[in-house]
Parts: sequence; structure tokens; C-alpha cells
Amino acid sequence: STSQPVDMNRSLEEVIKLVEHVLSLSHIRIYKSLDPNIPPFVGDHERLKQVWLNLINNAADAIGQDGVIYVKSKLCAHRQRIIISIADTGAGIEEESLSKIFDPFFTTKSVGKGTGLGLSVSFGIIKDHGGDISALSPPPVEYLPRDFPRSPSYGPGTVFIVELPLEGKTLEKE
Ligand code: ADP
Ligand code: MG
Repeated sequence: STSQPVDMNRSLEEVIKLVEHVLSLSHIRIYKSLDPNIPPFVGDHERLKQVWLNLINNAADAIGQDGVIYVKSKLCAHRQRIIISIADTGAGIEEESLSKIFDPFFTTKSVGKGTGLGLSVSFGIIKDHGGDISALSPPPVEYLPRDFPRSPSYGPGTVFIVELPLEGKTLEKE
């Protein structure tokens, strides 16, 4: 792998820039709140960007047309963790599906639209970084901004929470 110090906010910003325009065509806006105090995280920049892209694409699929995706990063200094959450105003996830979404090939999308691999690959990438990923639907208020917009056309929504440990990280030798 190619571990190096990653500016986590920059990796989020790069993915947001990549998708922002095309999502705006579906009236999907991206809100962000990125914590400037996050120290560099030793990891694989490209694979982490793949996780953010998977999560944002899933959020957009769950919204369809007209909604908001909220990307938040936060340093939890006390527990030496970075918490990245991606919340959406989409259709939400049924209780009975929540335990299956990280399984390879689990998808609720039609043939050709989803492979069911995005979350299982993302799970593997986060595990490889010593972290954890989970989903809650609907998102608890702490994962939404105070002025998060409400609209009758919005669904219950979902939040994906990624926790990455800072401590004990050392640069991998090639
Ligand atoms: P795919 O996107 O190809 O279906 P994923 O592994 O990325 O595969 O996601 C698996 C399933 O998890 C999706 O088909 C969908 O049912 C559910 N899912 C993932 N993200 C969201 C989300 N943000 N909102 C609602 N459902 C989601
Ligand atoms: Mg997907």
C-alpha cells in the first residue's frame, strides 16, 4: 500500500469537488463542516477518497432528486479519533437491511445500477486503517447541522459514520 500523511479535510474536499456539479443538476446540495484541527492521518489517500466517493454516491442515489448531503469531520481529541460523517435526506434504510448493507453483493438497486460492492469495499478500507464504519437511519441530530433544511419532499435520511484512530499510527515502510 501507499501510506502517507493524509490531510483528511483535503481528501473530503477533493471528492466533493469531483461530484458537486453533477449532483447540483439533480438539485442535491452538499453542506460541509470540516474541523480545521484534524492532524495529518497516516493512510492511503486514494483508497480513503474511494470511501468518501462511495458514501456520497450512495447518499445521492438515496436522494434521487432534491436533497442535501452533509459532510462533517471532527477531531475527537479526547479519544484520539477522527470522526467523519456523511448524512443525507434520502429514502433511509429499513431496520432489517441495516445489518446487511456491508455484505458483499447486498444491493436494493436494480440490475446494472448497483453491484452491492461499494460498502463492503469501503468497510475493508476503513478496517485496514484500524477504523470503524457504521450507519444510522434516520440520522441522530448530532450528525446534522443546527440549520439543516427540512422539506416535505425529503426522506428520513441516513448517516454513515467513519471513525479513524490517530494513536499508534506509524508510517509504513515500502
Ligand atoms: P450499491 O450502491 O451498489 O447498491 P453499496 O454496497 O454501496 O451497493 O450499498 C448497498 C446498499 O445499501 C444499497 O443498495 C442501499 O440499499 C443501501 N444504502 C447504502 N447507502 C445508503 C444511503 N445513504 N441511504 C439509503 N440506503 C443506502
Ligand atoms: Mg454504492
